[in-house]
Amino acid sequence: MARRRRIYEGKAKVLFEGPEPGTLVQYFKDDASAFNNKKKGVITGKGVLNNRISEYLMLRLKEVGIPTHFVRRLNMREQLVHEVEIIPIEVVVRNIAAGSITQRFRLKEGEPLPRSIVEFYFKADDLDDPLVAEEHIAAFGWASPQELDEMMHLSLRANDFLSGLFLAVGIRLIDFKLEFGRWWNQDEMRLVVADEISPDNCRLWDIATNEIMDKDRFRRDLGSVEEAYQEVARRLGILPEGGGPGDLPGPSAVQ
Ligand code: UDP
Repeated sequence: MARRRRIYEGKAKVLFEGPEPGTLVQYFKDDASAFNNKKKGVITGKGVLNNRISEYLMLRLKEVGIPTHFVRRLNMREQLVHEVEIIPIEVVVRNIAAGSITQRFRLKEGEPLPRSIVEFYFKADDLDDPLVAEEHIAAFGWASPQELDEMMHLSLRANDFLSGLFLAVGIRLIDFKLEFGRWWNQDEMRLVVADEISPDNCRLWDIATNEIMDKDRFRRDLGSVEEAYQEVARRLGILPEGGGPGDLPGPSAVQ
């Protein structure tokens, strides 16, 4: 790993300088963290699964016209991505009440929301990523009103598409988090989905049993975290090479 310059190390990933200008290599670690890094652990094999799941979901988003930073997967733990300027906002889309929204508004976990809700959080670990209003984003210049509009529009489209994609394999998309970046291609700037889309930043419940298949298994010490991530990959038909039993050729529909 000494072969490339390390640009940034986050909780679950490392970014290295890419082979061509304007590219980066995203390396997926097995490290897991929750509650703003207060809980830490290792989920063996998570990096391999998230690399693969995120590749799959980013490619599917691209097919429906939602631009992403993803270029191609390089190996089991690495993918090549476009270098972007990350907008310091986390966009959360919610379909069913779970996590922080249940406490904020006294909702029951699992309660369907009256409609999909888009929320913005300011990316700042020292502040525990506070929920912010559009007004804060515009006033402090974190994103322009046009960018914010675009982020909301793309997030809702991604929600519709991903909800259907997961539904087809017997999984309910409860909520998820997206990050966006500004990608300059020659003189043009585009907003693209960046970071990753995986069970680390989505809530995924089995349709039939409501079994949790995401990072909440780690947050709440439910055990079998890797197995749950593996089951998500298996249902999507994308188990990594040598990734376990029942390597399937395509998505497995659930009746
Ligand atoms: N999320 C994330 N990173 C964060 C905060 C939230 O990926 O820093 C995801 C989380 O996995 C869930 C959704 O965003 O799918 C909504 O999270 P919530 O606000 O309920 O916070 P949590 O309960 O996860 O702390």
